[in-house]
Amino acid sequence: VRIIHSVSEMQSWASRVQGQRFSVGFVPTMGALHEGHLALVRRARRENDAVVVSIFVNPLQFGPKEDFKKYPRTLAKDLKLLQKEKTSVVFVPSASMMYPAGTSAKVSVPALDHALEGAARPGHFDGVATVVAKFFHIVQPTRAYFGQKDYQQVRVIDRMIKDLNMPVHLVACATVREVDGLAYSSRNRYLSNREREEAVKIYQALFLGRELVSEKIMKKPAQIVKRLHQIFARIPKCKVDYIALADPETLEPLKKIRRPALLAVAVRIGRTRLIDNIVIP
Ligand code: AMP
Repeated sequence: VRIIHSVSEMQSWASRVQGQRFSVGFVPTMGALHEGHLALVRRARRENDAVVVSIFVNPLQFGPKEDFKKYPRTLAKDLKLLQKEKTSVVFVPSASMMYPAGTSAKVSVPALDHALEGAARPGHFDGVATVVAKFFHIVQPTRAYFGQKDYQQVRVIDRMIKDLNMPVHLVACATVREVDGLAYSSRNRYLSNREREEAVKIYQALFLGRELVSEKIMKKPAQIVKRLHQIFARIPKCKVDYIALADPETLEPLKKIRRPALLAVAVRIGRTRLIDNIVIP
């Protein structure tokens, strides 16, 4: 595996590979890699001649009160995992390399950035879209791999690619879960043992929500959302940011139950903020 720290070195690699007409699969990450990330890398490996994984904790997508400083950084272990997966290049730029002027020109996707995570984390998706656009220009991937775990992120990137005519094919990959159903997340490592046990209720709530919708047990989105709130109310030190049944395309909250429907939740358990979702077909 080749480790590249500099933008210009990454760009020359990309131009050379483009010249050879090799396909490039790109997996952007913030590191602290887990099975969810590795599933994206394996798929990129199967579908492309070369695989580039970026590891960059992007300051632009964190709010001032969020966990940028304490976000887990496990580079040595990440590199070992990526070596095993036969990654061609790991791109690990510094923040000053990515944003040499301090501030940056921005990419915004206003149609999709005010609901759900966008409402809870103002500016977050500008940060995401901007860094992903920069990576696309630097890496020039044929295909880029994103996880459905961050459902709204997939929608925002998809829209950015289309609106700005970027020559990249987006591949959305299913959420990878631990055996009890909790979605893998780099932030799971913040959880105490007790909190980890409670965290499985996020998946149980999504599962119940899906039953309530598909068995037509409840007629109104508000009733279902209320029922799910009751699950989280029983977890100590748990605060719900949002529970929403939304249109999977527009992300707008559903007034009536329709399918497909996106059921998305964001909760804090202690100091850890976790998100998860399912699409109810
Ligand atoms: P992150 O490092 O959290 O920015 O995530 C990097 C990529 O991995 C994003 O496209 C995420 O959606 C994806 N990802 C994170 N967790 C999972 C998971 N449990 N299953 C599938 N993809 C995931």
